[in-house]
Amino acid sequence: MYQVISNEKINSIKLENARKIILDLQSQMQYYISKGHGPFLAAIYDEHFNLIAKAPNSVLRENCSNNHAEMNTIKLAEEKLGTNDLAPYNLSIYVTAEPCIMCLGAIMWSGIRSVYYGVPSSTVEKITGFDEGFKPNWLEEFKKRGITVYGNIEPIEGEKQLALYVENGNKVYKPSR
Ligand SMILES: [Zn+2]
Repeated sequence: MYQVISNEKINSIKLENARKIILDLQSQMQYYISKGHGPFLAAIYDEHFNLIAKAPNSVLRENCSNNHAEMNTIKLAEEKLGTNDLAPYNLSIYVTAEPCIMCLGAIMWSGIRSVYYGVPSSTVEKITGFDEGFKPNWLEEFKKRGITVYGNIEPIEGEKQLALYVENGNKVYKPSR
């Protein structure tokens, strides 16, 4: 059994819902990869579990290094709701893997209230070679800002999807240094 991490006392109802949503996203991953997307998928839901927006990573497909799944999903949600501040909508973002340093900033700026993620960055890096960036104490920093975080949700299924991406010879993109 794997250990879920959180920056609040774990609420079993929130966790159970997050498990369902993250497993659902993981079940769609190979479809998106087959369309040329990167192996990450995110969705934003409101507190009544209405889907507001969902998007995959589209860095390669759209030639834009900003286009991580979280960035794309936040953009879609803000367009749909016609706002740059999602805070009044009490939204949660569900992501198949831990957000990278760029996406943490974007989540903070968006007003999203909760983050639920699957595979931790250290595992993503080990399996794929993607560089997730430095992230000092982000769970604590988010807690200070009133943003709840749950992580390491259904990581085994997530690891499987990432491994498939690599095994099938898909590109691990990163800047040449
Ligand atoms: Zn990212």
